[in-house]
Amino acid sequence: MLKIALPNKGRLSEEVRELFNDAGLEVRARGERALTASLGGEFEAIFVRAQDIPEFVADGAAQAGVTGWDLVNEAGRELEPLMDLEFGRCRLVVAARDESGISRVEDVKEGMRVASCFPRLTQAFFQQRGQKVTVVPVSGAAEIAPHLGIADIVVDLTSTGSTLKMNGLKEVATVLESSARLVAYPRNDSEARRALEELTQALGSVLAARGRRYLMANVPKTSLEQVREVLPGLNGPTVVDVMNGGHFVAVHAVVSSRNLYRTVNALKALGGQGILVTRIERLMA
Ligand code: AMP
Repeated sequence: MLKIALPNKGRLSEEVRELFNDAGLEVRARGERALTASLGGEFEAIFVRAQDIPEFVADGAAQAGVTGWDLVNEAGRELEPLMDLEFGRCRLVVAARDESGISRVEDVKEGMRVASCFPRLTQAFFQQRGQKVTVVPVSGAAEIAPHLGIADIVVDLTSTGSTLKMNGLKEVATVLESSARLVAYPRNDSEARRALEELTQALGSVLAARGRRYLMANVPKTSLEQVREVLPGLNGPTVVDVMNGGHFVAVHAVVSSRNLYRTVNALKALGGQGILVTRIERLMA
């Protein structure tokens, strides 16, 4: 059994479960608060705090784990990054009070106090820039520290920027871009590596499918060349005969969901009929 450490609660936990479920690794927990769950096949999930996952995996208590890239970097442990899971996107930023007079990170003066739940990354960031600051480690709600007089500035996570704004803070620099990652124990044996390779492919196939749709349409044979321009697909569209279709053939293609609106309109303009768009569960190129 390979153990995969997953966040037990918090921002990442729902999406991690959804991703594993979509990849056919259904999280079968024995109860809401179970500490472990079978994922089917050769994997077992252990549920721990997102912050603790880098340590669990680096210590070999789990062969792999899913957590935020910010937390992986803050832990500073040797871990093998296997895959960017593309959700939980956020940035670790330096932010100052609107009225602080700090509008660029260069304005941060020697000896200023910086509150952060990410003391290691904060220290490293300012050290690399040659700016001497005092890091004030906090375990949450760093954004209120400047208002309490505990710190001059903060290094905090943001995605939409609304929490910073609500607290009268403005961003002055980015320390790190983050998203959820699958990371592995660096010394896994070859059997574990094979299983993790399969897991990576399964999760990747779900991510690849998310931004795409399967499109089918009947189009006049005479417009096939133009249809090919509109529907590049993975290897060009599949063209299928339609029984009693007259001068129509069916075309099938995987298309980007971002361009779907334009693609459907372009097909209609080329005489396309019976246009059908469906979701794709998994896509292995
Ligand atoms: P948790 O504290 O368990 O809710 O998980 C926090 C993790 O979610 C962070 O370490 C980030 O990797 C990720 N995350 C994504 N967006 C945000 C955000 N806007 N604020 C804080 N954490 C975020």
